[in-house]
Amino acid sequence: ATPTALLVGTGRGAQLGILIKGPEVLESTRRVDTVVLDKTGTITTGTMTLGAVHVAEGTDRVEALRLAGAVENASQHPIARAIADAAERELGDVPEAGDFATTNGLGVHGVVDGHAVVVGREALAREWSLTLPDELVAAKEAAERNGSTAVIAGWDGEARAVLVVSDEVKATSAEAVRRMRSLGLRPVLLTGDNDAVARAVATQVGIEPADVIAEVLPEDKVAVVERLQSEGRVVAMVGDGVNDAAALACADLGLAMGTGTDVAIEAGDLTLVRGDLTAAADAIRLSRRTLRTIQ
Ligand code: ADP
Ligand code: MG
Repeated sequence: ATPTALLVGTGRGAQLGILIKGPEVLESTRRVDTVVLDKTGTITTGTMTLGAVHVAEGTDRVEALRLAGAVENASQHPIARAIADAAERELGDVPEAGDFATTNGLGVHGVVDGHAVVVGREALAREWSLTLPDELVAAKEAAERNGSTAVIAGWDGEARAVLVVSDEVKATSAEAVRRMRSLGLRPVLLTGDNDAVARAVATQVGIEPADVIAEVLPEDKVAVVERLQSEGRVVAMVGDGVNDAAALACADLGLAMGTGTDVAIEAGDLTLVRGDLTAAADAIRLSRRTLRTIQ
């Protein structure tokens, strides 16, 4: 490889908002045939907002928002920020939670006003022996069919509320998926979120239902990449979160959203400065072309 051609390639990359860690990165783009895309913050904006709060019979909506908001106030997760901010906006202030703890990829719990409060996925609620009453099951399923995330809040031995949280698919994500396909790449959606939510988002951007891998715990994302590799695929991974770092490092080509966490950016081979997924397709096209020029 001539150094000049590589510099031209990387210089053009900078213009397109793509930072390449080193010239050796270009080589891995040639054989890549699969692109694994994280959902939250990669395909979607990652800026969550709280919509409806559905409560079980006998539970007060404001009480649900107050207790859930108090626990989430101790978490940095985008879902937590949406719930805590909405609670503070509506109630002025939320109490402080004691004994706060996070269960990665599942949710949080803490003690508020003497109640042990759990907020997160249904699997976490079940771990705490909290089951959803029928009216909340219906609310949860309706939210998920719409591509929203249903967050369960429970305390005093019962699941009492479903908080509907959503973010939007980025305007350029569908176009990015089209460009990836035209490069002969197979896009795969990988998320810790619920399967119904993941499918709704996949439909919006043109990813096949068979290529949706949902409800994957943060520590298992890397195992998904390894499994695809063991099937003979050459994998590019695009992600933004702390949760994605190991998978970005393990992939044949790691692309980090510049809008994401430092940990993800450090783990990636390439950074998409503007956090625009079309830049992922452009990066692969550009490096392949640069390689052709060199050889
Ligand atoms: P993703 O893979 O889409 O980036 P995460 O692995 O961060 O998602 O989280 C997976 C799921 O775990 C979320 O969709 C949510 O249901 C649940 N979850 C994680 N953290 C929290 C939290 N602080 N509050 C409520 N739910 C949470
Ligand atoms: Mg993410």
